[in-house]
Amino acid sequence: MNMNANAKVFASSECISCHRPLPPSLFCPYCGVFVSDRQGTVVMASRLARLGAAIVNALLMICTLYIGWIIWWFIVAPRGQNPGKAVVGLRVIRTDGHAATTGYMFVRGLLGMVLSIVPFYLDNLWLLWDKDAQTLHDKAAGTVVVQARGSERVVAEGPLGPPPRVGEIIILPAALVLFIVGFLPWYSVDLGPFGTYSHNGWQSPGEMWSILAILVGLAMAGVVVVKSLGTTAIPDSVGGITWPKIHAGAGVLALVFLLIKFLGNHDYTAIGLYLGILSAAALAVGGLLMLAEESAA
Ligand SMILES: [Zn+2]
Repeated sequence: MNMNANAKVFASSECISCHRPLPPSLFCPYCGVFVSDRQGTVVMASRLARLGAAIVNALLMICTLYIGWIIWWFIVAPRGQNPGKAVVGLRVIRTDGHAATTGYMFVRGLLGMVLSIVPFYLDNLWLLWDKDAQTLHDKAAGTVVVQARGSERVVAEGPLGPPPRVGEIIILPAALVLFIVGFLPWYSVDLGPFGTYSHNGWQSPGEMWSILAILVGLAMAGVVVVKSLGTTAIPDSVGGITWPKIHAGAGVLALVFLLIKFLGNHDYTAIGLYLGILSAAALAVGGLLMLAEESAA
C-alpha cells in the first residue's frame, strides 16, 4: 500500500532536469537525476564507475595490507565514502536524500559482509539489473550510490539521526560472533579410537541458557540496526525503560545465562563455551557503555 502511495506521488511529477514523467524509482531513468533532489545536481553513479571503485578498493586493500585501507576508510566514511569510492568520485547517500555518515557506512559494510554469503556474488551483481543500481546491501541499508560531484550538498546538510554510539558498535559484532560461536563445540569428549564427541551451543547440557543468550544477542543487534537505519520509527523507551537501560540489562543477562550454563556443567568444556562467554561479556560491556553514555548526556 505504501508502494502505491509513492507511485501516485511520482506519477504526478516530472524530472526536474529532463522534464520527462517519472516512474516510481529513486532516480530518473532517462538522465539519472536523484528524484528527491529539488536542485537536480545529485546524479546516480554509473555501473562502470561502481566496478572501478570495487577494483580500486581491492587493490588498495592488498597494497596496504588492509591497515592503510582501514585508516583511510575512517577518514572518508563521514562523507559517505570508502577509499575506492573516494578515488573514483562516488558517494553513498540514504534513499531519503540524507547523508550516510560513518555509522551508516559501517552498517552498510557489515550488511555487505553478511550478504556475501549469498551465492554467485548476487549481492553485488544485483546492481547490474536493479533500476536504481542498488546492491542487496544497499537495499537492506536503505542507501544508493551517487556521483560525488553535485552531491556535496547532501553531506553538508549532515546526518538526520544521531550516529551510533560506541556501545552500539560493540554490540553488533559481539552478537554476530556469539551466533557463529554457537555452532562450534562447547563440550567435547575425546573417545580415543572412537573419535571426538561434541555438543555445540545449541545443544545440552543447559542448552536453554545458551540458546537464550544467543537470541538475546541477536535481538540486541536487531534493535541497534533498525535504530541506526532510521527508516523505521521506534519509540525512545519501552514501558518507560530507555533503550540503553534495556541493552545494559539484556547484555548482562546474556552473560549471566552463559555463566549459569558453565557453572551447571564445567566438565569437558571446549573452545566454543569460552568464546561464547567472551562474546556475551562484550554484549554486557556494549550495553553498559550505552547506559554510561546516556547517564553522561
Ligand atoms: Zn531526468
